[in-house]
Amino acid sequence: MQATNKTYSLADLKNWDFCGTSLCLLGHPIEHSLSPIMHNAALAEMAKMDPRFLDWKYFKFDIPPQHLGEALKLCYLKGFLGINLTLPHKVDAIRMIVSIDEVAKKMEAVNSLIYETTGYRGFNTDGYGLEAAIKYGLGVSIKGKKVILLGAGGAAKAAAVQCLLAECSELWIGNRTLERLDDLLKALGILGRGKVFGFSMDQIPSNLPKTGLLINATALGMSNDDCFPVDLDYFDSSLKVYDMVYKFGMTKFVRTANERQMRASDGLRMLVEQGARSLQVWTQQKVPIDVMWQAITNAIKLANDNYL
Ligand code: NAP
Repeated sequence: MQATNKTYSLADLKNWDFCGTSLCLLGHPIEHSLSPIMHNAALAEMAKMDPRFLDWKYFKFDIPPQHLGEALKLCYLKGFLGINLTLPHKVDAIRMIVSIDEVAKKMEAVNSLIYETTGYRGFNTDGYGLEAAIKYGLGVSIKGKKVILLGAGGAAKAAAVQCLLAECSELWIGNRTLERLDDLLKALGILGRGKVFGFSMDQIPSNLPKTGLLINATALGMSNDDCFPVDLDYFDSSLKVYDMVYKFGMTKFVRTANERQMRASDGLRMLVEQGARSLQVWTQQKVPIDVMWQAITNAIKLANDNYL
């Protein structure tokens, strides 16, 4: 079977007969995802050194939320070794697996599963991916930093937990909807005691730090017409900016930060880092992250050229 970037369905999963080791991504919608391209590039590279990986392939399945339970049962029956989960499955999957690691429990979301004898164990590599991408793209670590985190959805929750585990000095979380912000602050509980501050994105507090690390974990920036989540003029040019959104080239937010002499990076590296970490857990081997990076940047460029 060819492992292309084809989108498979629940019906395909019912008849699954791939005789190698299957890995996959489940989400809805999923057509846009380039994850199979980066994972299969890495597996092909790993197979050059270790022929065991010759028959390992990564696939993607479009699974609507009401079919997630059935899909996970089928994956288990068919022996899928590793699964990535993306929107909207990261939270619902928790009640469908047999165990979950401590970090994923704090994030209240799983983006990865691994096959074990009694069922799937869940873990979360999003926070790891964010921290690694910040180090790669901005040259800084989170430890000791004042962090301004924008957003209170799933991505922001993983980011907040990671920043606290990585011992940021302060965590300022801003969101548009205050109820959702309150929910996140409550969920962080004692992990954030004494160093987490919430604010409305509509009204920047006068004591908000002007430097440190700013992370955009809102959905703003996915469309070119979106406004910015925050006015960059408020901040000092020493601010480092990590935009979890990514698109071909650069997001407008990152470009504008660069124009203000701020060091800024977009979310593509996070996607690659979290994927590489999952693959490392599944294979128990060092993963060629540069090959994944090259494969996904080429694929995004190609998708963009075809779109234009
Ligand atoms: P989500 O759970 O739906 O949360 C969306 C967040 O964006 C909420 O805080 C929401 O605020 C805010 N938002 C949406 N529209 C807004 C607007 N018009 N004005 C102000 N705030 C707005 O989504 P998510 O899963 O957290 O994902 C958030 C972003 O992170 C997405 O762009 C996603 O692609 C990106 N992401 C990237 C990676 C990566 O690997 N790079 C991984 C995960 C996620 P309200 O609460 O007020 O609605």
